Amino acid sequence: MVAQRVVAVYPGSFDPITNGHLDLIERGSKIFDELIVAVLRNAEKDPLFTVEERMEMLREASQHCPNVSVDSFAGLLVDYAVRRQARVILRGIRAVSDFENEMTMALMNRKLDANIETVYMMPSVSYTFLSSRLVREVVRLGGDVRGLVPPLVEARLRAKVA
Ligand code: ADP
Repeated sequence: MVAQRVVAVYPGSFDPITNGHLDLIERGSKIFDELIVAVLRNAEKDPLFTVEERMEMLREASQHCPNVSVDSFAGLLVDYAVRRQARVILRGIRAVSDFENEMTMALMNRKLDANIETVYMMPSVSYTFLSSRLVREVVRLGGDVRGLVPPLVEARLRAKVA
């Protein structure tokens, strides 16, 4: 039997990418043959960064992982996964609070396409409190997010709120 290549999609807003996202990308890139980080278009009404800016930051931050690529999508995630021949959806679980939402989403996606499996990974414990929303808020209020986002993102954030 020839082993099938496993392609996974890691979807999200990534507004902007944090070290928690990067932690998951690195873990995912080690277990899947190919990992597609996919930015959801039109998810938020008032994003800080455009989809293109977010993709650019994701590309720069993940360039050390050769089997990782960055894309964007609109519409149903399962339809996008089928188009990209991905059998796995990768998501992160930080705390119990993430669980309920993630479970309903995974079960709905399974109902829509039973061939696609959602896989969850936990980040390093030091990133379990970290979210893009919190990073945006801290930066808006003049706080320091060093060590929480890749350095290139930190610079972009400073420029954005200046
Ligand atoms: P969404 O709006 O789809 O939740 P996010 O960009 O906030 O998009 O998150 C994308 C995925 O990454 C989600 O599965 C989320 O749980 C996960 N994630 C976000 N922050 C972290 C983190 N600090 N550690 C691990 N996973 C995370």
